[in-house]
Amino acid sequence: MRAELIFTGTELLLGQTLNTNAQYLGRNLSNLGIEVTLHTTVGDDWDRMAAVFRQALGRSDIIITTGGLGPTSDDLTKETIAEVLGLPMVLHEESLASIKQYFIVRNNEMPASNIKQAYFPKGAEVLPNPCGTAPGAIIKTDNKKIVIILPGPPWELEAIYENSLLPFLSSLPVRGDVTRFTTFKLTGIREENVQELLNGLDGFSNPEISYTASPGEVHVRISAHAKTSAEADGLIKPLAGEVKRRLKPYIFAIDNEKIENVIGELLKQKKLSIAVAESCTAGLVESRLCDIPGCSNYLKGGIVCYSRMAKEKILNIDSEILEKHGAVSEWAAVSMAQNVRRLLDADLGLAVTGEAGPTTSESKPIGLVYIALATPGGTICREYKMPGRRTAIRQGAVNASFKMIRHYLQGI
Ligand code: AMP
Ligand code: MG
Repeated sequence: MRAELIFTGTELLLGQTLNTNAQYLGRNLSNLGIEVTLHTTVGDDWDRMAAVFRQALGRSDIIITTGGLGPTSDDLTKETIAEVLGLPMVLHEESLASIKQYFIVRNNEMPASNIKQAYFPKGAEVLPNPCGTAPGAIIKTDNKKIVIILPGPPWELEAIYENSLLPFLSSLPVRGDVTRFTTFKLTGIREENVQELLNGLDGFSNPEISYTASPGEVHVRISAHAKTSAEADGLIKPLAGEVKRRLKPYIFAIDNEKIENVIGELLKQKKLSIAVAESCTAGLVESRLCDIPGCSNYLKGGIVCYSRMAKEKILNIDSEILEKHGAVSEWAAVSMAQNVRRLLDADLGLAVTGEAGPTTSESKPIGLVYIALATPGGTICREYKMPGRRTAIRQGAVNASFKMIRHYLQGI
């Protein structure tokens, strides 16, 4: 079954809103074995929307639109679709009642313009919206096409998808293969070097290996398609095992795993606390640790010591020795880790110092980063040469910091 997605909204074309509905629908439809073959984004314009919709009707089995269901005059999706399909718009009493109720609950009266949201092309099955005033709809056309209309706000679309669309799509008889993925997230290595390490494993189509680079990270995705999820997982498993073996030193997380969650759990289990001293990452490590609810159980605090003066005055680093070794040095990282551990009375002290570029104050190579972890049993320090520019170097330093903490806690 071929599905085509049409996103409406001039704000998408102008780049003011990121089209996250494309990501959400693509991911969920492929999980169901519905092949998405085309995306179109079109502005809030009747003629252009009608033209795009007509083309879609001619080539796809399922057409899903998002956006343009609001109460304002630039919201035209249902009306345009009704015209192209030759259907009149009719009032859906239940929707009108629930839209009115939406306003009553909020102590407001429904503006007259919202009545429009309760009208649908004749014969449409209405999909209630538990989070807003724009219900969605399913229309089955005479020549067996399925048209699905969804609102633009992502949280409304997702609620409708989960409540009523997913059961409908799951019940469709002729679905194709299910696609499954597993993703390894790496740091401290360039995309092309990853490919070299996987020599002989990639270049096949099922299971397939693909690469994506973002600042400070490279993702290796293994995907496979088969009739069932279990079969697809079976294709992925042996390849994933080999990929993991070859890339082990660089992997910091797998799939949607958040490494800060893993670290938080380990720290809690082991009843250990941590403090951080950050130079080039300037709070990024602490901020990520702080994203986890309950981090007050183990996070003692952190010091952003960007300048040399901050390293001396707040962290008590010996200025003469710092001058001799430089702020980007193993000595500096180790001293920072040990001092923050002691000053904040923590079990572990993590420190990051590096040259994020684009200029260097100490004639050190851009991308040189030292990360140290002071522990009750001694201090570990590693030197990294982070690839990429400033954002990538800083992000890479954060990922490598988490990897170091995790490895220590897991005894790797
Ligand atoms: P609409 O239903 O067109 O009135 O859209 C209402 C809100 O949803 C606006 O804030 C849009 O920017 C947002 N929105 C519409 N389409 C998308 C999309 N594809 N991805 C993310 N947000 C969207
Ligand atoms: Mg709109």
